[in-house]
Amino acid sequence: MKIVIYNEYTKNQLSPIGKRAYKEGLHKEIASVFDGSDVEVAFLSTLPDLLNHTANDITYDKLRDVDVLYWWGHCDHDKVPDEVVDAVVKRVHKGMGIIFLHSAHFSKVIKKLLGTPCSLTWREVGEAERVWTVSPKHPIAQGVEQGFRIPHEEMYGEHFNIPTPDEVVFVGWFQGGEVFRSGVTFTREKGRIFYFQPGHETFPNYKNPNIRIILKNAAYWCARQEDKIAIVNKTYKDAPNVHPCESIPLIHFSGKVKQGKEED
Ligand code: ZN
Repeated sequence: MKIVIYNEYTKNQLSPIGKRAYKEGLHKEIASVFDGSDVEVAFLSTLPDLLNHTANDITYDKLRDVDVLYWWGHCDHDKVPDEVVDAVVKRVHKGMGIIFLHSAHFSKVIKKLLGTPCSLTWREVGEAERVWTVSPKHPIAQGVEQGFRIPHEEMYGEHFNIPTPDEVVFVGWFQGGEVFRSGVTFTREKGRIFYFQPGHETFPNYKNPNIRIILKNAAYWCARQEDKIAIVNKTYKDAPNVHPCESIPLIHFSGKVKQGKEED
């Protein structure tokens, strides 16, 4: 399998706080999920470190033998030439998988593939997020801890203006109260598409073990090689009475409510 990672790698990522999150760039962190495997990983750039890289040198021919393209962009969406957008879209239609990460929700490529504004609400205060698996049998969700917590992430909230996904695999909950369809799949012609919301450039969340599993599974699924994903047959209890995973002011389980403490 051949993977290519596009990361715009400008501004915030090169700031001290960006470098603290990913010393060598988040593209290197994403690539490292394939360490020790036979997957071939390349970066879309003519420069060794992607510095000052633009998407200008992406062509259909360069993508011809690529199975999956990861796309991380934020500040430079408008600098991606339309002919590059057309080349990527054409290659997806012919069967290349594509994974849009975080702020790539606003990239020209995803907008052209999905045909909607792909807008959302956002807030950057470093709040926690919980990522809930809502399609536990989906290959991308295999091995992922249910409701795993990310200490700090940029909030992305509904309404996420996308077409109805083929499947919603993950839903994100944020400390401020919002929820978001954080992991969604689409198919366009022969190409599989996965959008995944975590990945703000100043929080090192591509080092999170659950997110690394998702990043890797998503590549195999987008490449139609889900047979290489180890299936974890999780069993879920029917209707369990569960304790809150975040602190809440009042709890009411089997007993009465009293000052936030449960009474038998
Ligand atoms: Zn962000």
